[in-house]
Amino acid sequence: MLLANPPRFFWSLARHNQMIECPRKYAYQYYFSHHGWLSSSTELAKQAYRLKKIVTLPLLVGQAVKQAIRNYSFTTNTESIEEHMTAMRNFIDQELRRAYLQTRDHGDDWYHEPNVYTMMLEYYQKGYLADYEIQQTKTSIERCVTSFFRSKTFRELQSIDLIQILPQEAFCSVELNSVKIFVSLDLLYHKPTTNEYIIVNWQTGKQAHDHLTQLALCAFYIQQTYNVPLNVIQIRNEYLYLGGSHTYYVTAKEIDEFHHTIKESLMNMHLYIEHSEYNQPKPLSAFPMKQSTRCKQCVYQELCEKTD
Ligand code: SF4
Repeated sequence: MLLANPPRFFWSLARHNQMIECPRKYAYQYYFSHHGWLSSSTELAKQAYRLKKIVTLPLLVGQAVKQAIRNYSFTTNTESIEEHMTAMRNFIDQELRRAYLQTRDHGDDWYHEPNVYTMMLEYYQKGYLADYEIQQTKTSIERCVTSFFRSKTFRELQSIDLIQILPQEAFCSVELNSVKIFVSLDLLYHKPTTNEYIIVNWQTGKQAHDHLTQLALCAFYIQQTYNVPLNVIQIRNEYLYLGGSHTYYVTAKEIDEFHHTIKESLMNMHLYIEHSEYNQPKPLSAFPMKQSTRCKQCVYQELCEKTD
């Protein structure tokens, strides 16, 4: 089946990871859900798009925490830290409550407008949220808020007069071999006194993710965008759930390895494309289903069950 209007090709770390994790998931996510928001689309596109919009509870917590941090003003603070912590907790609670109420009370609306309403995977699968999921969410919020106000980044940004927070677009990108590469940065700031660029990734999960490709991608983006050497680029992973942070400086050798990874990844992605000029994918059956324990947490499970 040819897609009438295929999406434009791009590279991102999330796309690379999904292709490795399961090619069928990659197919739904990046090709067969395309235009699923249009009433004229195929049933498969509509269903894949609807499922693509389902979010897990930990992801919603992460989004709400990052939004609360983005809303935080480092310049105009007269309240105490305790008052800020309370305000941040309240904001995250409200965001999650809104998501929960939409999930519970607007299932039909979500079905028809999945880009407007939220659906939580945990609720979608069971019809309710289990006590341990609610408890885990409360623990995550508390740990993330407390860690933020104790973090190295927070302490550093208090001396805001010596630091410039750089504006970011919703989607930062850079070109490599004529391919658009998207980069996700939570926070970027510059210290004019030392000419250092600091990229901060807020990690809200239970596990630390320090992948070389992600670190090198951030460094490559700053190097290209601001035309600065690698030794002034710091990448800091702040582990909000776990506490603590790690700071990295990427080397020229690691940037070379990153180029190699991207080249290989692009070659593999192109194996699934029929006409590279139009990014027209091969038929769905050409994307193998890589079944594993991850299927339980995969939003496309019901589509795979149909074709199993
Ligand atoms: S349910 Fe499993 S096999 Fe199907 S797309 Fe998801 S990860 Fe792949």
